[in-house]
Amino acid sequence: MKTLYEARAYSDAPRAGCAWQLERDWPRLSSDRSVDIAIIGGGFTGLNAALTLAEAGHSPLVLDAQAPGWGASGRNGGFCCLGGSALEDKQIARGHGADALAEFRKAEVDAISHVRDLLDRHGIDADRHSDGEVFMAHKPREARAFDDAVAAYAARGIAARVLDQAALTEAGLSSPGFHAGLHVRAGFALDPGAYCAGLARAAAQAGADIRAQTRVEGIETVDGQHRLRTAAGTVTARRLLVATNGYGAEDLHPWLRGRFLPVQSSVLMTRPLSRAERARQGWTSDLMAYDSRALLHYFRLLPDGRFLFGMRGGIRATARAEARSTARMIRDFRRMFPAWRDVDIPHHWSGFVNFSARLLPHLGPIDGDPSALVAMAYHGNGLAMGSYTGHLAARMLLGEDARSRVHKAPLGRFPVPALRRNLLRLAYPVAMLRDAL
Ligand SMILES: Cc1cc2nc3c(=O)[nH]c(=O)nc-3n(C[C@H](O)[C@H](O)[C@H](O)COP(=O)(O)OP(=O)(O)OC[C@H]3O[C@@H](n4cnc5c(N)ncnc54)[C@H](O)[C@@H]3O)c2cc1C
Repeated sequence: MKTLYEARAYSDAPRAGCAWQLERDWPRLSSDRSVDIAIIGGGFTGLNAALTLAEAGHSPLVLDAQAPGWGASGRNGGFCCLGGSALEDKQIARGHGADALAEFRKAEVDAISHVRDLLDRHGIDADRHSDGEVFMAHKPREARAFDDAVAAYAARGIAARVLDQAALTEAGLSSPGFHAGLHVRAGFALDPGAYCAGLARAAAQAGADIRAQTRVEGIETVDGQHRLRTAAGTVTARRLLVATNGYGAEDLHPWLRGRFLPVQSSVLMTRPLSRAERARQGWTSDLMAYDSRALLHYFRLLPDGRFLFGMRGGIRATARAEARSTARMIRDFRRMFPAWRDVDIPHHWSGFVNFSARLLPHLGPIDGDPSALVAMAYHGNGLAMGSYTGHLAARMLLGEDARSRVHKAPLGRFPVPALRRNLLRLAYPVAMLRDAL
């Protein structure tokens, strides 16, 4: 199939060092099938759609080229947090109106509640921790807006507080180079592998038919029926959801070509740190955190003492490029957490997040056909937003449109789609310069 990156990015190699579990022993498709609803992609988006549909009495067929959770959903940082768009408030309000902004900000909160409820309802043990997240200012200027941010969060009903350097130390959030923190009490952290596995099991128990190692090679729509071509046979479906996010191929459906931009993100995880080691660094808190750099870092101490640290990946997806970006990540980790500079790092891996040209998450019909939807582009924050968008997609297939106006904004093509990866070549150096100044 035609993909935007080198073949290695779509192989097992980038996830080989992943610390999260992946359950691969799902059956594969073995013959032609005719179904009411098919879902392509078994990540947070596809599995949430499948669960909602199955709980409503349907039996959706989920097809994943590898296994449920094999993509970004089973290899992320586990931040169940606000987010989903790469735009700031004023940009969303300018482009789509103040009401659309308010609707989307509410959807972000609803997305977190959706995941929390789902974990509770299905008894999924995903190692939850962290009362919200902390935004760390890497320059004093980044902290200047914190007081206004506290007021803005309060207006949304979200508690937030500013932590100066002394308060950061007191809270067990010490790392050189951070001038202040903004603790926003929304969201929590979890083990994404356990969440995916629990979600897939819950969807299957409710009636979804999940098939692994079944790549859809092309979609054709004939007489209102969607025909999904796979090596094992053709699936004919009356309704369809494409939930392939950053792992989608350019030629899966002609309309989708050039409408998304996968971007690599990388994560490392240390061995468990002893209490003394944590105290030596001054990082003892279980709060998840990220910094104010344009090319941001995200990090958290897991309940078992391991430390997770992530950042953007490379522009290319060759083994050599991956080695370079891993080296960069380890260098940044050691600079930000110097007391742990000699600690073993048994795990590192990478995967695709996904961007849309408008920098907004999207849920909508493919080429105007309400029986075929696509849900994608969470801009690196798809744990909560992808889960919720998958749930909304299922409701939409059932005739109830509860999308925010932001989700409805058209999924436009990137200008000069063939060259869209070059946007990263331009954006990264500019962001690096901004971070350094
Ligand atoms: C390293 C990393 C760290 C991240 N950290 C966070 C974080 O801490 N918090 C957060 O909110 N978000 C994070 N994200 C983003 C988040 O993981 C994604 O937004 C989210 O998982 C997207 O879910 P999805 O179901 O839409 O796509 P994916 O999980 O990528 O699933 C897509 C699935 O589609 C399947 N597929 C693709 N093509 C086909 C085909 N033709 N036929 C059949 N199946 C196909 C793939 O095999 C894959 O399983 C991170 C991402 C990465 C890579």
